[in-house]
Amino acid sequence: MEKGEPLRSCIGCRSVKDKNVLLRYVLSPENELVLDYNSKLPGRGCYVCADVTCLDKAIKQRAFQRSFKSKIVVVDKTEDFIKVILKRSYGKIASYLSFAVRGKKVALGTLAVELDLKKGRIALLLISSDMSASAVDKWKGRLKNNINCKVVEKFEGFEPIIGNRKVVGIRDEGLALEIAREIEIIEKLDFNIL
Ligand SMILES: [Zn+2]
Repeated sequence: MEKGEPLRSCIGCRSVKDKNVLLRYVLSPENELVLDYNSKLPGRGCYVCADVTCLDKAIKQRAFQRSFKSKIVVVDKTEDFIKVILKRSYGKIASYLSFAVRGKKVALGTLAVELDLKKGRIALLLISSDMSASAVDKWKGRLKNNINCKVVEKFEGFEPIIGNRKVVGIRDEGLALEIAREIEIIEKLDFNIL
């Protein structure tokens, strides 16, 4: 933890951490609990570790209700809440991808990605999780340090946008950061571990 980083405590496990490693939740105008992906939404926020166990604790112990000191639309099951979050993150990735495709900010498929890698034009490499582990390693081996790489579950869901490609390179750095952030949320909140 760096000196001077703002600290917050997780309302699930109570441990105090750098606020950037915690996920922020706010209430929507309808008093629904919403994950504030980019820590930009206004209003009071609650912080929880990016961990399903802590989220589950916070929900079961009604810690959100206590922290917001208001009635909130009750989230009964952590799994249902996580499904909503996952669906929204996949939706956001899909809209970033279609924006990238329309703006030609993306290399689609093996040949295009290889060419762009050689030219140093890739900021983020996305690989479908159905690719074999050895193929994933091969791709990772070709990357320079400054290139982010994510193996994405349920890649087939993006077929309407990127076709049946298993590897996609995002050229635009801003889009690459946004997409990587959504994938990190999906990775952290995998509800299969509940
Ligand atoms: Zn926690």
